[in-house]
Amino acid sequence: MQGEASQPLRAWVEYFRDLGIHDFYRRGEGVFAADVAAQEAEVDPASASIAPSESYVAMPELAVPATAKPAASLSAGLMGPEIAKLVSFDNLAPRPAGSIPVEERAAALQAISDEIGDCTRCPLAYAGRRKIVFGDGSPVARLMFIGEGPGADEDAQGVPFVGKAGQLLNNMIAAMGLQRAEVYIANIVKCRPPNNRVPEPVEANTCSQFLLRQIDVVQPQVIVALGATAATYLLGVKQSLSSLRGRWHSCRGAKLAVTYHPAYLLRDPNQKGEAWKDLQMVMAELGLQPPARKQTHSDLET
Ligand code: URA
Repeated sequence: MQGEASQPLRAWVEYFRDLGIHDFYRRGEGVFAADVAAQEAEVDPASASIAPSESYVAMPELAVPATAKPAASLSAGLMGPEIAKLVSFDNLAPRPAGSIPVEERAAALQAISDEIGDCTRCPLAYAGRRKIVFGDGSPVARLMFIGEGPGADEDAQGVPFVGKAGQLLNNMIAAMGLQRAEVYIANIVKCRPPNNRVPEPVEANTCSQFLLRQIDVVQPQVIVALGATAATYLLGVKQSLSSLRGRWHSCRGAKLAVTYHPAYLLRDPNQKGEAWKDLQMVMAELGLQPPARKQTHSDLET
């Protein structure tokens, strides 16, 4: 296997090595670590996404998503992977009894960031990540946006939503009459998935423990899930975006709205009107005054 196609598998191999696992096995026959390359060669590059078996992975001290069916991508014959079931953020861990005093929230977020450190808890650490993208914005924000995962610009700068999709998100925030520094922005995963692919369940689940605590520190009144990946993991359901939009959900004490990811809106600007409806629902909930000039979805331009 050559080049980029081998990167996900290489990341997994390095991840397992960091966990102290050096031997890999095919069903029914033992092989040595030196044979891993040969195994790699047999794996279809298009499906070379290998989830670790539950017993190999130190999962967060949360309600660990129970394992379900073996991953189809392992049909190539490597042993053991299981996909975690979806568990909503509400069911992952009990909510804290109280809220952190406003003046201590920045330090509380910093403590989470310090704990993450130079994270190697999931394969994204080995998949070309440059910077961990922790989160950005006000520790006392009433509104939190949660996207999928960093792209190339975010990976380079260590700040979420600073690329083209970020420019559109900035416009969405401004159209709501807010400044970016007033809201809090984070992602389901803090490290860039290679080639901007959708995060694997084990990556999202490993990272959840930190996002969950960020939400619990900030305690926003409203969360906006940007796109299907954010909605899926926050709500613990895999449903179409259209079935989740236009109504309120709940997440860790906040009201949660689902809307289109800005990157999707860049690809299909016709949906900006629908996104604007979602944002107006959020504005009404937050009692945000419409900005002086009447805003329309045409304000969601890049
Ligand atoms: N897309 C995301 O989901 N998050 C970012 O931070 C940037 C692009």
